[in-house]
Amino acid sequence: MELNILTICYLIGSITFILGLKMLSNPATARKGNLIAAAGMAIAIAGTIFLYKGSDGEGLHNYAWIFGGLAIGTLVGFIAAKKVKMTAMPEMVSLFNGMGGACAGLISIIEFSRASADFGSGATMHGKLITIFLGVIIGSVSFAGSMIAWGKLNGKVKDFSFPGQQILNTLMLFVMVCIAGYLVFNVTPANSFLFYVILSGALVYGILFVLPIGGADMPVVISLLNSFTGVAAACGGFLYSNKVMLTGGILVGAAGTLLTILMCKAMNRSLLNVLIGSFGGNKAGGAAAEGAGGGSYKEISLSDSAMVMSYANRVIIVPGYGLAVAQAQHVCHELEKLLDEKGVEVIYAIHPVAGRMPGHMNVLLAEADVSYDKLIEMEDANDLFKTTDVVLILGANDVVNPAAKNDPSSPIFGMPILEVELAKTVIVNKRSMKPGYAGIENALFFQPKTSMLFGDAKGVLQQLVSEIKSL
Ligand code: NDP
Repeated sequence: MELNILTICYLIGSITFILGLKMLSNPATARKGNLIAAAGMAIAIAGTIFLYKGSDGEGLHNYAWIFGGLAIGTLVGFIAAKKVKMTAMPEMVSLFNGMGGACAGLISIIEFSRASADFGSGATMHGKLITIFLGVIIGSVSFAGSMIAWGKLNGKVKDFSFPGQQILNTLMLFVMVCIAGYLVFNVTPANSFLFYVILSGALVYGILFVLPIGGADMPVVISLLNSFTGVAAACGGFLYSNKVMLTGGILVGAAGTLLTILMCKAMNRSLLNVLIGSFGGNKAGGAAAEGAGGGSYKEISLSDSAMVMSYANRVIIVPGYGLAVAQAQHVCHELEKLLDEKGVEVIYAIHPVAGRMPGHMNVLLAEADVSYDKLIEMEDANDLFKTTDVVLILGANDVVNPAAKNDPSSPIFGMPILEVELAKTVIVNKRSMKPGYAGIENALFFQPKTSMLFGDAKGVLQQLVSEIKSL
């Protein structure tokens, strides 16, 4: 009876994960989807704690440890999620993903030490060992890699590579797989220390795998590591014959893989190129590289900007990372409403990698209650620019850099961009002539159609709003 209720709990968990994931694909339902999946997870966890019975008919022990861990995890997660700034979200995702990888790795460690009491033989043990090794390798790579990605995103870890690093990485992976393959059929108490050699190798591999990858490619890497964590968790599901863990792991693995592919497509690069290329890395020198110096640019005053926008038929706003930094989404929405009242059509052009995480601009604008139908995707925006009077760029840089189309030597060459220069007038708001994330200069700022409107996005937008009100 209890087992049946537990099975129903797991079924509810699995269904809510699928529903939640589906709802996450639309900003209008994403919040609810997240809550539904979290509720399903809570049911699955509570079911396991209170209803699970092992083959010996015994339930779980160690309740103090279990509830202690749950309390600490809930508290830390709650506080971290409440306090995190929108701009630091990718870091948090990376950190939490790393924790998932670590959990999967720990499951393999525990199960290996349990199995080592009596390795036995036969297909069941071989299958179990394969799952344990997969779990420890993938989970540890995901943990170590995510920690490095976290360090890179918050600026504490710098890009690092050395000649032959890719060869060393490939060799390490090959050796780990060979040792694991050998142990599956020949493990004995005497050679079981090799398991820990694999564990250490996987941790070092995770570090070396992510260290050379450029900062601008971190979202792709995090998404890839996310899919690793999913696969590692699914291994745990196999080990414990736990269907909800298996479903959850497979969903995360599949979603992470699809997101990785989509992001690579958005940048027009192959995954291999992302992993062994150095876009945004040492070559580009990060955001600290290169200042102005690519020619002369012209500035526009607040009153002229207000005037140009007020008399336009259509204004397309291009939000970027700077808008998130300035936390200017609310005043941006105010500007949009004001122009709307004046009969100006205002829409937002969303580049898939604008900001610092997938969907960053959607989330940011949703926070300010910007209507979803006002957000248009890159392809549609590119069709509209040529019939647009004014493009207002707010803290975006790389995603509007024409070098991605025109300059084969540019590190961002091949990345699809918002072709804002097709519009009649382009107004760029940022604080200086400094480059964006990829660390490269932007020729758009020096084009005759472009005018720079310097200042912090929030302050500038507030002043624009008052200027337009006074017109
Ligand atoms: P960029 O990083 O290219 O440019 C942001 C610009 O905002 C800067 O040039 C900066 O110029 C300006 N800025 C910063 N603060 C402010 C402020 N307070 N007010 C006004 N402007 C400000 O951003 P994009 O969104 O154009 O491009 C995203 C980049 O980040 C891409 O290279 C992408 O690959 C990468 N990336 C994307 C992730 C994702 O998943 N979306 C994750 C990680 C990286 P100034 O200092 O002069 O003000």
